[in-house]
This record gives sequence, C-alpha cells and structure tokens, in this order.
Amino acid sequence: MTDISTHKESESLLARMGQIFQHSWNEIYTFDSDSLLFIEVSRGARENLGYSHEELRQLTPLDLKPEYTFDQFEALISPLRRLEKQQVCFETEHRRKDGSKYPIEVRLQLSDTEKPHVFIAIIQDISERKQYINELERRALFDSLTELPNRALLQDRLNHCLQVSKRSTSPLSVMIINLLRLKEINSLLGHHSGDLVIKEVAARVKNVLRESDTVARMDGGKFTVILPSATTKQAEVIARKIQEVLEKPLVLVDMPVEMEVAIGIAQYPKHGDSTEILLRHADIAVRSAKNEPSYLSLYNGEDDPFSVRRLRLQAEIRRAISDKEIIVHYQPKIDVRTGNVASVEALARWPRPSEGMISPADFIPTVEQSGLIRPFTLLILEHAIKQLALWSKDNIDLTVSVNLSTRNLLDITLPDSIASLMDLHQVHHSRLTLEITESVIMSRPERSLKTLNQLHALGFNLSIDDFGKDHSSLTYLKSLPATELKIDRSFISAMSDSEQDKQIVRSTIDLAHNLGLHVVAEGIEEPETLDLLRLYSCDYAQGFYFCRPLPPDELEHWLYSSPWGFDTQA
Ligand code: C2E
Ligand code: MG
Ligand code: MG
Repeated sequence: MTDISTHKESESLLARMGQIFQHSWNEIYTFDSDSLLFIEVSRGARENLGYSHEELRQLTPLDLKPEYTFDQFEALISPLRRLEKQQVCFETEHRRKDGSKYPIEVRLQLSDTEKPHVFIAIIQDISERKQYINELERRALFDSLTELPNRALLQDRLNHCLQVSKRSTSPLSVMIINLLRLKEINSLLGHHSGDLVIKEVAARVKNVLRESDTVARMDGGKFTVILPSATTKQAEVIARKIQEVLEKPLVLVDMPVEMEVAIGIAQYPKHGDSTEILLRHADIAVRSAKNEPSYLSLYNGEDDPFSVRRLRLQAEIRRAISDKEIIVHYQPKIDVRTGNVASVEALARWPRPSEGMISPADFIPTVEQSGLIRPFTLLILEHAIKQLALWSKDNIDLTVSVNLSTRNLLDITLPDSIASLMDLHQVHHSRLTLEITESVIMSRPERSLKTLNQLHALGFNLSIDDFGKDHSSLTYLKSLPATELKIDRSFISAMSDSEQDKQIVRSTIDLAHNLGLHVVAEGIEEPETLDLLRLYSCDYAQGFYFCRPLPPDELEHWLYSSPWGFDTQA
C-alpha cells in the first residue's frame, strides 16, 4: 500500500466514522497511539461517562480504566503496535466522571492507515452479562431458598478454615443442626410451610453467629455451621443459644409451629483432622443428639455406628431384648416409721454368658442410642407387671416401681401401652409407680409434662428419681403430678460426714413434705444413716443396708425371713 492511497483511505475512514461517532449510542473511541489521548469519542460513550468531548480530549484510556497501570496497558497494546495481533480483547471496568464504575468488554484495534497510528476501541457495557454470570455462580454456591452457602461452598470454606487452624494450631468446631419433624410439617401444612420454617430457622441461626462463622444449608432441614477457633465448650454455648432462639414457635396460618432442632458437634483436632471426618463425626453426634433430652451431643467414639465394638453391642442388645434375655431384680423400699418393706423397685439386669451380669448404667445408654428404648421399657414393664399379678395371686401385698428412661417421656403413646399391659394382667394401676429422673423434665418441660399428666390421669404413681443430682428445682416440682421424691444416693452417703449434706437432706425432706410428696432416701448402707433419716421424718429408705436388688424368688424368701421384710407378727 502506498502512502497516498493510505492517506485517502484514512480520510474516508474518518469521514465515515465521524457520522458514526456523532450518532452512535455504542461506546466507540479512537486514541492516539503515541500520546494515548482520545481523538474521537462516540455520543454513547460521552453520555455514559458523563464527560464532554473537550474534557475527554484531555484524557487517555488509562484515566477511565482504574484497574490498569501505564505499564500494564502498554503491555496489552504493544502486540498491536508491533502488528503481531490484529485485535486485543479484554474485560475491565470503566470509571465515570461521577466515580461510579461499570464492567466492560474492550475490543481494541490499531488503525495503521493513520499517521500517526490511531487505536480504535469498541466498548461493550457487560453489566447484564456480569449479573447473569454472578447469578449462575451464586446458584452454584448458595442455596436459593435460604440464601445461605450450600454444600459445595461449605466444603470449600471448611477446607480453608481447617488449613488456617492447622497453621495456627487453634481449634475449630463443626456443628450440624437438624430440624426435627420437617416431614410432619410438610405433610400436614404443605411444602410451602416447610420452606417458611426452614427459612426462619436459617435466619434465626444466622443471627446468633458471628461474621466469621459460616452456616450452610445442606439439604432438607439440615444445616452445617463452621465455628473457627471454637472449642467444643464454646460450641456448646452457641448450640444452646441456637436452641433458645428457636424456642419461640413460628406462627403459620394462625398455627404455632415448633422449630425443634438436634445439634451435634465435632472438634478439630480431637475428633478428626480432615473435612470429611469432621463432617462425618458431627453427623454421628447429631444422630445421638436425637436421643438426648437436651437434643445436643458432642461426638463420642462410642456412638460411632462404624465402631465395631458399638455395632456388636447394639446387635447383641437388640437380640437380648427380642429374646427377652434381659431380666429384672427387685430391691425393697422400707417404710422408715414401721421398719417393714413397703414396695420394691424393679432394676434391669442383663446376664451375659461371657461377661456375667451387666449393670444397667453400662447398657441403657446404648439401648437409648440404638432407638430400642421403647421395646426395652415395655419388656421390663411386662416382667414387673406379670410379677405383680403373680404376687397378687399369692397374697403378697407389694407395689412395684419401674424406671423410665428420659426418652420414654417423649413417647406419647407409652402411657396407653402401659395401661393395656396392666389391664391384660389384671393389675390395678395404683400398684405401679413410674420413676423418672428430673433432668428430662427440666430440659423438655412441656413435652414431658404432657406424658406425665397422661400417666397420672391413668392412675399410675409418679416418683422423681435421683433428686439433687442435676439441676434441681423444688419449686418446679410443684407443677408435676408426682407423689414421691427420691433423694439421690450421693447426698445420703455423704450425710454422716458432712453437716452441709445433713442440712440439704433435712431441708429437702421438709420442702417435699410441704409440697405433699413422700420422700425416699436412696443408698442407705449404714444404720447411722437410717437413724438420721428417722429423725428427719423421711418416709421410705432403700439401700444395701436392708437388701441388695434380688431375683424374684430370692426376694420372696427375704420378704419372710428378714426383719425388714413383712411384719409377720401382725
Ligand atoms: P436408680 O433408679 O436410682 O436405682 C438405684 C440404683 O442404686 C440401682 O443401681 C441400685 O442397685 C443401686 N443401689 C441401691 N442401694 C444402694 C446402696 O446402698 N449403695 C449403692 N452403692 N448402690 C445402691 P442399678 O441397678 O445399677 O441401676 C442404676 C440405674 O440404672 C438406676 O438408678 C436407673 O436409673 C437405671 N435403671 C435400672 N433399671 C432400669 C430400667 O429398667 N429402665 C431404665 N430406664 N433405667 C433403669
Ligand atoms: Mg430408680
Ligand atoms: Mg435413683
């Protein structure tokens, strides 16, 4: 190409472009290849940027592109200058006169028909495209219902947090929150209501957490929380706060819906050092949390269904319950005033050929965690009720106490099942007392109260077991339909050495009497303890001093041979 022809062409180019620049709503720029100063700028560009033609002629592309330094921009355009490339295309931002910015795509060419050469830039505002891409990214990483991070983003953040914890040797806790009864809500009130409940849980949980914590929705009613630097103790405090803020029911179509959650916690490094293990262990913890009255559980290897020992024990207990291998021993309660047996307590025993007699304290937690507590309790009740029927036939006048597990009180069908068993064996309901530990009543008052009232209405006696062991509240007991209170063994055994424990036992007996409750003292091993209890007007006493728990035939022998047995002189 000759110089002349080039000049002519460029003239016609500028002439043609002049029209375009004047009228185009697109952003088109030409700028000098040496000074980089703008030469021509389209109407669309001027309008969009807010600069006049004159103002723009004092500026270079660098004044509009805050992301670029001079050297970076030079590096970008030099292949065009050297004619190595025909076009350069890149994404960046433009800054308007008022300081606001918008994302753009730039197509840059060099027109070497000009002397000096001129760059032509065609700019496209890509705000919409960016928004769309952001939306796609958001959907890939966030849950659309709750706007919380989803499983993928959680994995990513947990990986990152774990690396930070490892580097700084600080702990990290992972918490899994499971919304209970979501299925029920969905089927009773519809999926829309289920969604509203999930959204509400998400919002309330988020409110409890700090900026640096992450809460993600996994699926359904399951959420995972990452608590950087938190120990299990701190995580437990947060878990309780979460349960607290969820206590107030959500009102949906004039109906209050409870948002109860079970929470499981696993901590780095003590429960695992990889994201997979921590998540799996928090999952195991949340499963056992469902069997806790507090609905809260830390990871415990014993609960791990993958632990061989636990699997074997679970399978054995399941079989022992269905084969009715678990039996009952009976321990008398003595009437302190008369010095004779008044009733007996049924205590579960598991005779295992390999290990001898196993204590209930060692196997009941596994029964609870395996979801076997209902069949287990019904088996013990069946033993006790059949025994009551047999004794009644033999004119042995006794009442029996059976222990209920904390989980039993959440089973609203249990009272009717017990009543049916009693009726089947023709035993009067007043012959059965049900012992309940107070911890469950304190942690789940409304639910347990419902079951307790049902049991009371059916004519069963209720007894508060192990009183004083956990958070005790005598005033709260006022609202319970119980007739008996058993003071925990720890106070009774400490009584002979400690003035303070004497005071506690004495005051408990007085207060319980004021509330109209009979008092039983557990764990009497020495005659001096009995003397004190008599002095304090305690009603009943139970302990190895009188009799250990015995199988029924040995108990019958004891009833007629022990001075604490039946008053045979009467
Ligand atoms: P608990 O209901 O408070 O029962 C009293 C426990 O104290 C029994 O332990 C009994 O053997 C023991 N004991 C009685 N007198 C004395 C004494 O003078 N000294 C000492 N050191 N201990 C005494 P056991 O049978 O091992 O039962 C432990 C717990 O297991 C029971 O405490 C009860 O909470 C639970 N349990 C027992 N049987 C059942 C059952 O059938 N169902 C449920 N859910 N729990 C049961
Ligand atoms: Mg008991
Ligand atoms: Mg007890």
